[in-house]
Amino acid sequence: QLVKTPLVWNNRFHRLGERFFTPLAPQPLPKPYWVGKSQSAAALLGLNDGWTDLPGLLQALSGNQPISGTQPLASVYSGHQFGNWAGQLGDGRAILLGEAQGWEIQLKGSGLTPYSRMGDGRAVLRSSIREFLCSEAMHALGVPTTRALCVTGSDAPVLRETLETAAVVTRLAPSFIRFGHFEHFASRGQATELKTLADFVIDNFYPACRSQPTLGDNAYATWLQAVVERTAVMVAHWQAVGFCHGVMNTDNMSILGLTMDYGPFAFLDAFDPGHICNHTDRGGRYAFDQQPQVANWNLFALASALLPLIQDQALAEQALKAFDPTYAQHYQQLMCAKLGLAQTADTASLIKSTLALLRQDRVDYTIFWRRLSHARLSQNFEPVRDLFISRSAFDDWMLRYSEHIAQSAQVLEADLMLKLNPKFVLRNYLAQGAIDAAQRKDFTGVSSLLNVLSCPYDEHPEFEQMAGFPPDWASHIEISCSS
Ligand code: AMP
Ligand code: MG
Ligand code: MG
Repeated sequence: QLVKTPLVWNNRFHRLGERFFTPLAPQPLPKPYWVGKSQSAAALLGLNDGWTDLPGLLQALSGNQPISGTQPLASVYSGHQFGNWAGQLGDGRAILLGEAQGWEIQLKGSGLTPYSRMGDGRAVLRSSIREFLCSEAMHALGVPTTRALCVTGSDAPVLRETLETAAVVTRLAPSFIRFGHFEHFASRGQATELKTLADFVIDNFYPACRSQPTLGDNAYATWLQAVVERTAVMVAHWQAVGFCHGVMNTDNMSILGLTMDYGPFAFLDAFDPGHICNHTDRGGRYAFDQQPQVANWNLFALASALLPLIQDQALAEQALKAFDPTYAQHYQQLMCAKLGLAQTADTASLIKSTLALLRQDRVDYTIFWRRLSHARLSQNFEPVRDLFISRSAFDDWMLRYSEHIAQSAQVLEADLMLKLNPKFVLRNYLAQGAIDAAQRKDFTGVSSLLNVLSCPYDEHPEFEQMAGFPPDWASHIEISCSS
């Protein structure tokens, strides 16, 4: 009773052999039902509109039936959690089914594995909907990310802070390999495995690093630098769009520079650079404004793990040095675009004062940029000014901004800013609304949010309320690692 699909499987990770994983099937989930489906993710796999009607697919993606061509496994990795070495972790609740059309297909929440430690191997409906919607939203915002094909749910109970129900996210990435995979083998002195894994990633995802090494003619150093650059670009996007990841442990850092493992993340509402979105992160290690530094710290951990391959400390250090300039360049570029300005020598200070202004009055981050975009079109800045308590501070800033506009050589395409500053982001309270309805078996909230977030720059006038200020209760939503 293998489920047949049109997918053609080429399970590259599986071919690495069992030093890297444990072969094992997902655990069944009773009476599954569809919760959410992404047509654009399905298209990546070449699946047509009716893909959810494929016989057996609902059962297969819930872990109840094997899919023909898959070779399911849970991989082993280690990592640093909150700055401390945590030892072996691994896919504690995820199963990699295999790879089709260049995408690894993973079931998250599919039951116990040898790496489950104290956990139950499950994911709850709430966190699965959050990961599903945010993956697709981030992609639509142009942020490098893993993708999500669907969520399936079940009435099976799962105990967290309260009793919830189980769900599975089917997620996609070219590879789910994390920094922690390398830390794992390095920490055990398993040089052969470390090299095998590095060569696998280089050959499949960074081939130019071997064919044209730039750093000291050293493929591993060149590759480390490429990972540093991709990670810097990813975090620049996070800071520009106002995304806080919440659990930037090294085991949650993708070797491909993709945002992954969506947990207690948040998009900023009122602008607060020190915002902590994970309520178990008491010290604020992963606060919004710490993210670039933390990414850099994580890259140092990766570099240490790769040192036996690079064999040259100075080259490793040189690779790491790429972080600051890459981050700065991409961040400046993204922020200038948000401001609708060409990048010049003094735009950096304008960006700084813009953020200081937003911080002072805790102005809503997304609404500010959207109103500013409309104002540039209409030449009516009153709706932007209305966002501020201290009007004089705004007026001073506006004077500076106007000077920049006047000097900006670049002629702005009329609605370009509206294509760069989203109207819709996945605010926690919006996700919560869709989750509350889904818990009552009404999945329309999930699908309408997905539709809006998939085209976040469009007006969607019928969903105007999703673009407004968050309600008062939104600031009391507490989200922890436990999901
Ligand atoms: P996270 O903090 O979500 O990145 O998870 C850290 C580690 O704990 C990873 O190895 C996860 O696979 C594992 N883990 C998280 N939640 C569970 C769970 N409910 N059951 C088993 N393992 C889990
Ligand atoms: Mg994780
Ligand atoms: Mg997680």
